[in-house]
Amino acid sequence: MGLDLTPTSAQHDLARRTHEFAEQCIRPVAADYDRRQEFPWPVLEEAAARGFYSPLFYRDLIGDPTGLSLPMFMEELFWGCAGIGLAIVMPALALSAIGQAASPEQMLQWAPECFGTPGDLKLAALAISEPEGGSDVRNLRTTARRDGSDWIIDGHKMWIGNGGIANVHVVNAVVDQELGHRGQALFVVPGGTPGLELVRKLDKLGCRASHTAELKFDNVRVPGENLLGGQDRLDHKLAKAREIVAGGRRSGSATLGTFEQTRPMVAAQALGIARAALEYTTAYANRREAFGAPIIDNQGIAFPLADLATGIDAARLLTWRASWMAANSVPFDRGEGSMAKLAASEIAVKTTERAIQTMGGWGYISDHPVEKWYRDAKLYTIFEGTSEIQRIVISSALGAGDGAPPLHVELEPTGGPFNRLFGRGTPARTRVANAALAMRDRVPEPAMRMAMKMLAPPRR
Ligand SMILES: Cc1cc2nc3c(=O)[nH]c(=O)nc-3n(C[C@H](O)[C@H](O)[C@H](O)COP(=O)(O)OP(=O)(O)OC[C@H]3O[C@@H](n4cnc5c(N)ncnc54)[C@H](O)[C@@H]3O)c2cc1C
Repeated sequence: MGLDLTPTSAQHDLARRTHEFAEQCIRPVAADYDRRQEFPWPVLEEAAARGFYSPLFYRDLIGDPTGLSLPMFMEELFWGCAGIGLAIVMPALALSAIGQAASPEQMLQWAPECFGTPGDLKLAALAISEPEGGSDVRNLRTTARRDGSDWIIDGHKMWIGNGGIANVHVVNAVVDQELGHRGQALFVVPGGTPGLELVRKLDKLGCRASHTAELKFDNVRVPGENLLGGQDRLDHKLAKAREIVAGGRRSGSATLGTFEQTRPMVAAQALGIARAALEYTTAYANRREAFGAPIIDNQGIAFPLADLATGIDAARLLTWRASWMAANSVPFDRGEGSMAKLAASEIAVKTTERAIQTMGGWGYISDHPVEKWYRDAKLYTIFEGTSEIQRIVISSALGAGDGAPPLHVELEPTGGPFNRLFGRGTPARTRVANAALAMRDRVPEPAMRMAMKMLAPPRR
């Protein structure tokens, strides 16, 4: 399906309903949950009641071939509050990892366990990062070893959303040390499994309504069927990895694949924060008077806002493109997922910082939400790959594709053969147009107008 940025009526409706939910149920309680750093269970219940908390919902979003539903939903939700937003969408990150690694039977078994049902909600966590290795996923030290038909997991995980309170933990562990990141596999560890310890809930700068934890895995035993993808697939993957290592070749890992797919989703979250801050501070600058006029009349106030509006729209276009690519299995050969995440997270930090500056002293205190948005936005240049890591992905792709044309040049054309013969800039079209213009003095004007209309290029 071609990239088309016109939202359908179903997408408009989804955005409207999400915005209503954010405005009515999230914004009024956001400051309180942030202050108390408490998990927003009642808001999750309301999200579930409205249809925003289920595996089916995310299947619909991810299955949308235009790619727009997912980022539109995320932007509106996070416009409400990023902390509460994360609490609501965290199971989707785990689900995405399950979706990429699991067999269809495993997907059917675990997807409902990630969300539960209204009145009996469940949570899921994706546990990749470790104290010694967040960016460097090759340096992960959590191990999984076979013991009969079971697996035993030992290790230490850090900064895990929903960690220790989740019903489903999707855990990345090394099964073959010699293969580095290629020797890793994903396991499902149900909450309450003996040996899984919630060491502490982390005290965060922002996004404080979400639960983030340090976890330990001490001799955690899970049955063989909790290895996502199954033993045969793992054996095949390891055999391939050994060939790659022996041949000195490079390849990606399932974990890195998960991140590249989810980056547009995370980018859209950052855009929600950025948009909230821009809207709020623009309204303030219109009302606030200094030296006898609204402060927005000063270019020193208005121009930075103009730059931010431009940056937000540019980042949204990158995000929608990446999301469309993910939906249509167009490979991120140029690091397009990372471009979206980098642009959106950096503009979110810039916008929230500028929102505080625009509001002066009022921006710095918690009477207004912009100081909270500033704290929330900062997370986005750190998790799901720091800004530096995004730049590494983009620059590596740049190096690998040295001289390759941009994506739009390489994509398959969507128009019919008539385009090739008579489309914009073709010699045939130029000859016919020139001949028509040469006759313009001899042909009556209505006939000329009709001829020019007929000469319009093919629509696509
Ligand atoms: C609130 C929060 C929630 C999180 N949620 C989850 C979660 O649910 N699941 C999960 O698995 N993880 C989660 N994370 C972890 C997050 O993904 C990591 O913190 C992140 O990947 C960075 O890793 P690190 O903290 O170890 O930093 P490091 O990797 O130690 O990096 C430190 C600094 O060095 C820079 N750096 C590192 N390597 C390079 C390089 N080669 N070139 C240039 N600069 C470099 C980094 O950009 C960064 O600025 C979360 C983190 C936070 C803060």
